[in-house]
Amino acid sequence: MTKHIFVTGGVVSSLGKGLTSASIGMLLEQRGLRVRMQKLDPYINVDPGTMSPYQHGEVYVLDDGSETDLDLGHYERFTSGELSRDCNYTTGQIYLSVIEKERKGLFLGKTVQVIPHITNEIKSVIKRMGGDDVDVVITEIGGTVGDIESLPFLEAIRQFSLDVGRENCLYMHLTLVPYLKAADELKTKPTQHSVGQLREIGIQPDVLVCRCEHSTSREDREKIALFCNVPVEAVIEEKDKDFSIYEVPISLVDNKLDELIVKKLNLPASSLDITPWTDLLHRLRNPRHEISIAVVGKYAEHKDAYKSIYEAIDHAGMHHQAQIRIGRIQSADIEREGAERLLSGYHGILVPGGFGERGIEGKVQAIRFARERGIPFFGICLGMQCAVIEYGRDVVKLENAHSSEFDKDTAHPVICLLDEQQNVTQMGGTMRLGKQPTKLDRHSLSGKAYGTDEVDERHRHRYEFNNKYRQQFEANGMRFAGTSPDGGLVEIIEVPDHPWFVAVQFHPEFKSKPLKAHPLFAGFVEAAVERHLKRADTEEKQSIS
Ligand code: GLN
Repeated sequence: MTKHIFVTGGVVSSLGKGLTSASIGMLLEQRGLRVRMQKLDPYINVDPGTMSPYQHGEVYVLDDGSETDLDLGHYERFTSGELSRDCNYTTGQIYLSVIEKERKGLFLGKTVQVIPHITNEIKSVIKRMGGDDVDVVITEIGGTVGDIESLPFLEAIRQFSLDVGRENCLYMHLTLVPYLKAADELKTKPTQHSVGQLREIGIQPDVLVCRCEHSTSREDREKIALFCNVPVEAVIEEKDKDFSIYEVPISLVDNKLDELIVKKLNLPASSLDITPWTDLLHRLRNPRHEISIAVVGKYAEHKDAYKSIYEAIDHAGMHHQAQIRIGRIQSADIEREGAERLLSGYHGILVPGGFGERGIEGKVQAIRFARERGIPFFGICLGMQCAVIEYGRDVVKLENAHSSEFDKDTAHPVICLLDEQQNVTQMGGTMRLGKQPTKLDRHSLSGKAYGTDEVDERHRHRYEFNNKYRQQFEANGMRFAGTSPDGGLVEIIEVPDHPWFVAVQFHPEFKSKPLKAHPLFAGFVEAAVERHLKRADTEEKQSIS
């Protein structure tokens, strides 16, 4: 029988429910259990694919092409379970499916209502996650308890334990225990109120995970336990970690959360082996090199917009035992202030994916700077397309070469719409999405980094390299290091005679894991470390002479 853990959040948003849920998933997996993770989001958009990164942060793409919430990135990075479309539902999807059933007449003339029709639909998407091959399903409910839009989800998870048995469900509530400076005290009242609201709905949490900046005392925890009607052992402290997110699972173990869950759900767990993660932290704490990498994007100021990119850079840093300072550079600033001023001193430059014209010329300038100065460069999706534009203009001498996404009438559309996109009018879920194979040139940098002939990577784009220009680019030195198996689509470009100039049409960041850095990120960071070592060497020689 599959057991279910429901994770809710209270008091404020951004408590890190995703990271906590992912950490729990990882701990249970390390204890030999088969875990599946799911996120239910109360907003009405069908998926985050059409939302601005300002609103929602990055869109995380799965193998099956679904465009999902960025918390699914945490799940994939922390656990080994395959994620699919079923792992992320929104209010929009739930209603869409109920309304489609209503149009087909499947409700047999009944009035269709939130209870039971919407709640039944929610319960069915949760139930779908269980099965003989799964011990535990962790379902995270987005939003904050008290939001109007979360109510159907909370009602559904309340009913769920009636359907499958209370002993098979565990309700975990993440809450904030703020510190009031003036009183020099931690305050438990917001937690009491938030749990009060949950209990009003009919959910008595089994475990409270208390996010706090300052450590809670036994007395604080006893007070929370008493007012919230949970045993004191089930009040778990989760103090802020300023060093690294990889401390989170370890601190949950220190506070015995995994033990508590295993006991409460009566799970057939083995003992815990957390050494890979403590080793990882050890490497992170004892770096052998310190380097800096500039990420030049449209939304540089917004740290969630390129979440998986930053994570993948960190993974590669841990792989090479390098501490990496990431400079978040807004590409539009480069247009105003120049690449030299904003990018000098960085050991590597990365241009991530994106949409829209703002800052494009800044990205092109950043890429030219990296190419001309021999600075390791990594372009991803739009970053690759900008690298093609830059090379087209400066090396192939195609005046005003551009992408037809940004200049419909350009004389040289070196990037153009994919054939399959010609007649697409609907915005949501219509790009070239998800897992696609790429055939590699084994002699290229990326071929060597992957060490194989073919790879699967995830895509999310409408535009591509224009094949009409392939010969001209090749004649001018560009290497097409990866294409679709039939050779029809360019997936990887490289500029030889450069320490590391690699740009890809896909999104490798979605497949990087803390314990297994992505080969291309690892190659890029290695080149950046080499640049750093070479520079240190030159500086030393100069100071001696
Ligand atoms: N806007 C570009 C396209 O649609 C790039 C997309 C991306 O970077 N994800 O092809």
